[in-house]
Amino acid sequence: MGLLAGKRALITGIANERSIAYGIAQAFRREGAELAITYANERLRKRVQEIAQELGSELLFECDLSRDDHVRALREWLSEVWGSVDVLVHSVAFAPKEEFRGGVIDTSREGFKVAMDVSVYSLIVLTRELLPLMEGREGSVITLSYYGAEKVVPHYNVMGIAKAALECTVRYLAYDIAKHGHRINAISAGPVKTLAAYSITGFHLLMEHTTKVNPFGRAITIEEVGDVAVFLCSHWARAITGEVVHVDNGYHIMGVFGREEEIKKEVFGD
Ligand code: NAD
Repeated sequence: MGLLAGKRALITGIANERSIAYGIAQAFRREGAELAITYANERLRKRVQEIAQELGSELLFECDLSRDDHVRALREWLSEVWGSVDVLVHSVAFAPKEEFRGGVIDTSREGFKVAMDVSVYSLIVLTRELLPLMEGREGSVITLSYYGAEKVVPHYNVMGIAKAALECTVRYLAYDIAKHGHRINAISAGPVKTLAAYSITGFHLLMEHTTKVNPFGRAITIEEVGDVAVFLCSHWARAITGEVVHVDNGYHIMGVFGREEEIKKEVFGD
């Protein structure tokens, strides 16, 4: 029996088969969860519908998480089709492309508001609106963060600020929903080549660097994120909440970067 057998999971944030949410959905499906899938707008419908079919789900709903009416409609729809939900996957973030060009110092007021609204407030409203559907279940919420929340990653800019707020929001929400018996955690994933990532100026250099200097010397995969999400949403993680779990091949533990080959040669002589 799969680790998520009998659980109903709502997946947000699939844009295509490169999306981190797709890796999570695949892993959930493998572990026996039933899936309902949202897409952000009409433009994405056809692609996400094909993905939903491939994942064995006919439950597809348009939901722009920056719109309260959409989130309310999502709750009503889920309440009709399922009546309850066990797992919420929030894999959504957005900031206008211009915000990734200069530095944080260049952030526009509008860009700041949009980034915080779509990438952070959306988690609050999604969790609050769907909370009644988790009643009596061992509910679990997952969101996606990145190392730019903790340290300066050039050009990540306002999204780093948003991710720091997101991680803090996870802790506060963990406290709030614990009284209902539910949990919430973030996965801080290493860089992955997705649509969202390509908005970040110089993403390919960031990816190259991160891959080279992490202890395993390789990039992470969306399947690896999916496997950790399975654990976090399973009964086995029942005492873990408010946590930020790094799935980054250990990149965040490093203190000194660069000249890896020279250092190895001098220390180990190979
Ligand atoms: P992606 O582009 O595949 O997914 C981002 C999703 O956000 C898309 O499906 C998009 O439709 C959705 N979205 C944007 N605005 C929305 C709105 N208003 N309402 C509903 N949905 C909306 O990229 P991804 O990399 O899979 O991103 C998923 C999450 O993972 C994001 O939170 C991102 O910040 C985070 N993350 C990504 C990386 C990376 O390197 N790709 C690393 C760490 C964390």
